[in-house]
Order: sequence, then structure tokens, then C-alpha cells
Amino acid sequence: MSSVFSFDDRLLAAAAAAEQAARPQFEEIDRISQHGTAKVLKAFQSQQVSAACFAGANGYGYDDVGRDKLDRVWAEVFHTEDALVRHHFVSGTHALSTALFGVLRTGDKMVSVTGAPYDTLEEVIGIRGKGNGSLADYGITYGQVDLKPDGTPDFDAMPEAVRGAKVVYLQRSRGYSLRPALTVADIRKIAVITRSVNPDAVIMVDNCYGEFVDYEEPTDAGADLIIGSLIKNPGGGIAETGGYIAGSAKLVEQCAYRLTCVGMGKEVGCSLNQCRSMYLGLFMAPEVVANARKTGAFAASLFRSLGFECLPEQGRTAGDIITVLALRSPEAMEAFCAGIQAGSPVDSYVTPEAWDMPGYESKVIMAAGTFTGGASIELSADGPMREPYAVYLQGGITYGSGKLGILTAAQKMLERGLITFAS
Ligand SMILES: *Cc1c(COP(=O)(O)O)cnc(C)c1O
Repeated sequence: MSSVFSFDDRLLAAAAAAEQAARPQFEEIDRISQHGTAKVLKAFQSQQVSAACFAGANGYGYDDVGRDKLDRVWAEVFHTEDALVRHHFVSGTHALSTALFGVLRTGDKMVSVTGAPYDTLEEVIGIRGKGNGSLADYGITYGQVDLKPDGTPDFDAMPEAVRGAKVVYLQRSRGYSLRPALTVADIRKIAVITRSVNPDAVIMVDNCYGEFVDYEEPTDAGADLIIGSLIKNPGGGIAETGGYIAGSAKLVEQCAYRLTCVGMGKEVGCSLNQCRSMYLGLFMAPEVVANARKTGAFAASLFRSLGFECLPEQGRTAGDIITVLALRSPEAMEAFCAGIQAGSPVDSYVTPEAWDMPGYESKVIMAAGTFTGGASIELSADGPMREPYAVYLQGGITYGSGKLGILTAAQKMLERGLITFAS
């Protein structure tokens, strides 16, 4: 490695120690990945995936074999009755929006029990902006159970809050916040609480960044509907675009009616040439998620040894692929992101700058040199330019390249005097 790239010797020594310290985590990550791979392989076999599934259909997409079988494979992997896996979803937000509009009706109430939802959903729900056709404009009300000051769910406040709610909404990942990701055990507890006071509620989980991080998924723990993006975990770095919704057959149908048309639902929407990459991506996903998690574990181990606070805390069960590095200054964020960019396989020669991103409130800096635009299962670092100047690190489709990206970022900080070694 050091005969190809020139990193500071002190940095290389710190990296070797950090990697050594992360070994036990790597072993657990590999066990989970092996289990995920087993689930996926079994589903491919029992659903009899064949080469014919990869040939795309065009036009209306009636009897699109590849599309229909992928839905069944997905449902088997996530232990649901049905799934809607489509390249037609333009992003995770679109899939989440489709699920909310698909399930909620005028007069219904949605309650988020994990604090404020992901930034881009604020306009969908109508928390921010009015008259745009948000859920609020259609007479759907919104309630929220804030997280406790330590960022964990306020289980005690839930029974009262979820009474009468049509949708009880959870976000598994930390998103752009310092709160811990929900574990599957947390989700199970929320589901039990919800059922005890409101048996008919639809428990909907934003599963973005969570797939294959644990042995079980939210749908094994009482969730009725999970939603995610294919340019994150379950696309395995291969799917070119898209999203998914999985859950009970009735709810998935309502979502399909919203994505296409009432009455047509899942029967239309041709797969074009996207099937092979969606199948291959799902097949790769457990191991790609493991590589991303190892990249994050290595980064946390290294930056902790350099005196920075990192999340998740050591020993905490992971619920997503995100690692947070509190870099404490805008200069450090810029240097780190410049290094992640410079260490990427694509667009390594450009310098990221903070910008006003649509749907986000503060300026955001993003580093990503990816094969798929915006794919955060590939090595990427981003964060809003506000206290505590934390970068949210995710991805790394191979561990070797992820590690080199982290080293390039640390080297950049070192060159700008933002890292010091105790001598
Ligand atoms: C990525 C993400 C979304 C959706 O974001 P898109 O950029 O629209 O795909 C929603 N919630 C969480 C927690 C996410 O990480």
C-alpha cells in the first residue's frame, strides 16, 4: 500500500493499530454478512431466479417476469407478504412519500415516534412549506414523539401519542443527527407498545441505511411496511437507481396504486434493462454492507485514537451503516471531505464545496466519487455545516478502497495542521 500511496509514517502506524483494535467488530460484521448472504441465496433458489429474469421488458410491462420475481425474492428475504421493488422510484424520499400517500387518507393521523423525520420528508408531510400538495394539504395530521435528550426513543410517551394514529412512523437510521440508530430490539419494543394500545396502526419504518446491518430486519420485529433506497444498502452498489417498499400484500398494493395508478398497481411499469443490476445488487448487498461497515469501524477506531469523538459509541449494537466523526470545525470538515473525494475512484480531482441542497435547511458539504450518482453505499462523507461540525461517513463498496479513502482524508487533515500526534 505505502509503495503506491505516500502517507505519513505516523498515520500509517496509527492506522495499523486502529485496524487491529477493530478486529473483533470486523468478525461480528462478517457473521452478520454471512447470515444475510444465506437469506438472499436461499430466496434466489426457492424463487427459481433464472437468466430469463434479467431480460428486460418494455412497454406497459404486463407479465414482466424479472420484475415480478424480484418482488417475490425481496419479500422472501425480508419475510413479508409482498414487495414493490422498482427503478421508477427516483430516490428513497420518493419511495417514502409513495408509502405515506399510499396508506394515509384525509382525516388520518401520522405519528413519528422517533423525533423529527429525515429532512427531505418535512415538505412531504407539510411540517415545512404549505400549499404544495403535502399530506397536511390533504387533511392528514401529524404528531411527533420527540427523542429523549440522550437521543434514545421515549418509550413512555408512546402509548398516549399513538392512540388513534393510522400510521406510526419510525426512522431506523440516525440520518443527519447524533442520535443512535434504532436497533431491531428497539423497533420490536415500539411495535409491542403500539399494538397494545392501537392494534390496527400501520407500523411504517424508514429502513434507509439499515438493511443487512443486523441478523433481523424491522419486518421480523413487528413492522408492517419497510421502505428504502436502492442506491444505498440493498442495491449493493450495483443497482443504478430505485427504491423498494415491502410489507403486507394489502399495504404494498395501496403503495403500488399510488406509484402507478389506482387499479393498475403492480401490473404495470416495465423493468427496461434494470433487472440484472437489481438482482446482482441484492445478491452482493450483505457483503457490500459489511465492507461499508468495516470502513466505518476502521475510521472510528482511527479518529478516536486521534482524539475525536465518534459515533456509534464503542460496543453499541449498530442499526445503520453510518459513522459520525465530530471534527469540531468547518475547516476540518472541508479537509476531511476533500480527502474522501481525493481518495475516490471517480472524480478524485475535484474539491467538494458546501452548497444549498434542495430539501435541506442548512448548507451541506458532500464528498462522493461514485460510480452511481449520489450513491451513499459507496464511500461518501457529508454533513450540514453547523455545530458540532460532524461528518456522516457511509459506504465503501470494498474495504480496501474504503480504508484508503479514510487514510487520504486523515492525511489531508494532517497536512492542514488539523490532526496532531502525541509525541
Ligand atoms: C437517504 C435517506 C432517506 C431518503 O433520502 P434520498 O436521498 O431521497 O434517497 C430517508 N431517510 C433516511 C434515514 C435516509 O438515510
